[in-house]
Amino acid sequence: MRFRSRVQLKFHRHDLPLVNAWAIAGGVVKHVHLVVFVELTDNDGMVGIGEASPSRRYHETVESAQKFFAKVDAARLSFLDVASSMNYLAALAPGEFSAKSALNVALLDGAARRARQPLHEFLGLGFRENRHVTSFSIGIDHSPVIRKKVLAAADFPILKMKLGSVHDRENFAALRAAAPGKSVRVDANEAWRTKEQALENIEWLVCNGGVQFVEQPMPTTASAEDCAWLKARSSLPLFADESFHFAADAARCAEGFHGVNVKLCKTGGVTAAVAALRAARAAGLQTMLGCMIESSLLISAAAHLAHLADFLDLDGNLLVTGDPFRGVTAERGMLSFAAAPEKFGLCVAARAAAG
Ligand SMILES: [Mg+2]
Repeated sequence: MRFRSRVQLKFHRHDLPLVNAWAIAGGVVKHVHLVVFVELTDNDGMVGIGEASPSRRYHETVESAQKFFAKVDAARLSFLDVASSMNYLAALAPGEFSAKSALNVALLDGAARRARQPLHEFLGLGFRENRHVTSFSIGIDHSPVIRKKVLAAADFPILKMKLGSVHDRENFAALRAAAPGKSVRVDANEAWRTKEQALENIEWLVCNGGVQFVEQPMPTTASAEDCAWLKARSSLPLFADESFHFAADAARCAEGFHGVNVKLCKTGGVTAAVAALRAARAAGLQTMLGCMIESSLLISAAAHLAHLADFLDLDGNLLVTGDPFRGVTAERGMLSFAAAPEKFGLCVAARAAAG
């Protein structure tokens, strides 16, 4: 189907410098994170914007995302029919979920702006001010740097600590010394190779200051039996991140985890993330909304879904310098659109335009 309301697509790569060097289990230390911004404009001049933050973990890069965008026939996209537009993109090429997410976000931004509604209202989701609190992430580092990062994040009521290095116990102790009593979540990013090693680490965490939950303790290649074994014995809730992508994964994940982490770049956008969050809850799973390192554009898009999540980890924009967009804010971790530069769509504007 071709639409009479012709849409033009522009995209460009953007480098986001990081506040601190960033490392997670199994990853290299990064100083810059690469994203691709997209802009759709229809022939009424209505604009929708989006962002792809591809991850090598999922075999996606800014180059593969740009290659996908170059293939798109923008005449097949319309703010008036997001569902048909997404069907076209799904059929265009396999994978490339961060690129598909960027276009889904841009289509919904334009559609909600046309309707003169913020995205959460356009989707009938609801977003409540003074209710949705994000954690702030502390990447893997040496313990004196961990201490500095934790002290610098003193305003944030919840921390998420990346584990999966040989210095885990020393680093966790440094965090606890700098922030005794603070709510902490842990993300092992697949680092614990066996169920016995995972259980030992979980029990150590319980005995040494406790945490709210543990994200992705074992690799995605861990068997269903091993995940179920760990779930049955863990006294901390276990959340699937790398093991969970789409709504269709919910039933499988309910066997080996207590909750799932949903990200726009993994599911392929807001539409698929809403379906994934609802499917997870229907399967009895707790829900978490997460992110990659990304600008305020994509963090704001996810924030509109906050009402569907039990836990939020939407801090990717707080880890970069020179964020080119303004949107949702996170003073003391509290997500708010009160000071957003736009009332409709994503409630986001380019920083230069927003002043
Ligand atoms: Mg994670």
